[in-house]
Amino acid sequence: MRQLIAGNWKMHGLGDALGEIEALKRMLAGNPPPADVLVCPPATLLTRAVAAAGGAIAMGGQDCHSEQKGAFTGDISAEMLKDAGASAVIVGHSERRQYHGETDGLVASKARAAWRAGLMAIICVGETEDQRDSGHALHICGNQLAGSVPDGLTAENTAVAYEPVWAIGTGRTPTSREIEEMHAHVRQSLVRRFGEIGRRTRILYGGSVKPSNAAEILRVADVGGALVGGASLKAAEFGAIIACANPDA
Ligand code: PEP
Repeated sequence: MRQLIAGNWKMHGLGDALGEIEALKRMLAGNPPPADVLVCPPATLLTRAVAAAGGAIAMGGQDCHSEQKGAFTGDISAEMLKDAGASAVIVGHSERRQYHGETDGLVASKARAAWRAGLMAIICVGETEDQRDSGHALHICGNQLAGSVPDGLTAENTAVAYEPVWAIGTGRTPTSREIEEMHAHVRQSLVRRFGEIGRRTRILYGGSVKPSNAAEILRVADVGGALVGGASLKAAEFGAIIACANPDA
């Protein structure tokens, strides 16, 4: 499958940020991307971002509730995201796990909700710095993966994102060898559980991806794309990362 370059705007962006979507759309029109491109703006911008993208850029949510509807004040269902024009949703981002106490089981139920609504789920896993330093990174991510990915995964309905917590927003990244080792581990787990489907499922890398390191990261074996936070907020930077996608991956 083509690599997927996904932008996570987190809690950034008012109406004027839509100019970045328009700018990105212009850039991609002039230079067709060697990858699938997705932007996950805040929910408040989703409908307007879909309109601004005019079909040229896929849009996604950053989280969803596991239920379709109900008395869950402040929450947004996968069906609502779909209705607003999303085609994907991030679930289990480390900021959700850390600040909202999300467990693997809850993340799995959100992934199932995404599929129920017809959205692709981007399921995030990643170790903390202490866990890496103590040599437990592979084990931790393997456990998160086992608990967060429900039965029913297909290469089309899911991308897994490996995002080391210590690399998010810090400017630090693992070495290419460390990324390769983790992606091989995730791949092995997916293949063991899902067979050929697991071989085709995209495994994204996320954590301080920027134009200066994107080409190297996107050429690492088993890297099926990138999940990009800070550097996705500006079209020029995000466009430069997209241009680094590996068409032969
Ligand atoms: C993220 O939060 O998903 C992320 C990868 O952030 P950043 O690129 O800013 O490290």
